[in-house]
Amino acid sequence: MSSIRYDRIHDTHVIIAPERLYRPDCSFHVEEAQNVEPNCPFCEGNESMTPPEIFAIRKPQTLANTAGWKTRVVPNLYKAVQIEAPHVHHYGLFEYHEGFGAHEVIIDTPQHATSMTQWSTETAVEWLKTLRARVHDLRRDQRIAYISLFKNEGLLAGATQTHSHTQMIGLPFVPKEVRENYHRSYEHYKQHGTSLLESCVQHEEEHQERIIAKHGDFTAFCPFASSYAFEVMITSKKALGQIDTMSDESIQTLAPLLLATLDVLKRQLGCFAFNLVITTPPLQEGSAEHGMLSCVDEACRFAVRIMPRIYKYGGFEAGTSVFINPVLPEVAARLLREGIHV
Ligand SMILES: [Zn+2]
Repeated sequence: MSSIRYDRIHDTHVIIAPERLYRPDCSFHVEEAQNVEPNCPFCEGNESMTPPEIFAIRKPQTLANTAGWKTRVVPNLYKAVQIEAPHVHHYGLFEYHEGFGAHEVIIDTPQHATSMTQWSTETAVEWLKTLRARVHDLRRDQRIAYISLFKNEGLLAGATQTHSHTQMIGLPFVPKEVRENYHRSYEHYKQHGTSLLESCVQHEEEHQERIIAKHGDFTAFCPFASSYAFEVMITSKKALGQIDTMSDESIQTLAPLLLATLDVLKRQLGCFAFNLVITTPPLQEGSAEHGMLSCVDEACRFAVRIMPRIYKYGGFEAGTSVFINPVLPEVAARLLREGIHV
């Protein structure tokens, strides 16, 4: 029987409809490869094929824009926005300004890995340290109000470049949904003295039905109102800072749990496309509610959301922002819990 669940974190409804379970579209599965592609601009040795690097974690005594790196960050060639002073134009009823902001690509690994499931723990650790450094740097720009941090893996998830990479887009405004998420987190904190995600993990631990694994302070679980089949969230009850402030110790704990989760997803689903989103905190006074920045770590937990793109979505989802998920989160969690090795 189907059920309609309310997603408290994102303030949306989801229709869980197991009777609609049908075969996933396998024409979009992710092809795995791990070698040097001669024409891949993200492979080691092809540094001249990208714009000059903004940041890199490098082996000692190697020069910028040459081989010898572990992660490398470059401006996006096909950027949605760019760092230039915004100039507002008026057009009748409407106003617009040039697409101001920052759009960077993090090249996750020098090898031509096409899937995050092929990464070593060391790669995941260096990747998290790179994200930490870039968000830390970008948030100092007072003009940037919000940073979106995400990965698209596989065609169905929107990837156009197969070499494993992450994108970071800094915007001069806070998107409405994100602003509302911050607001709900802050309201929950003021009312209950705990963050909303901490309360969610607490509830999940009491019920155990949707928990996949715990590792150190981090918990991986299938959210009660998952929009996507086999959706996973990784977060912590404890306040551990944000992506730009988390400790090396937290990174060392998170990395193996993240890779173990992706590994068991792959064993259950086959090679699968997915979107991965890392939450970012409110950055500036003015983009958050008064008083929120002083307690941001207590009110907003760092979280990673993995959204497998097994099914295609259509007009219903586009018109209502309500997703139909054919897999019960409790069933997904049990399958993942039984197979995970952290
Ligand atoms: Zn490559």
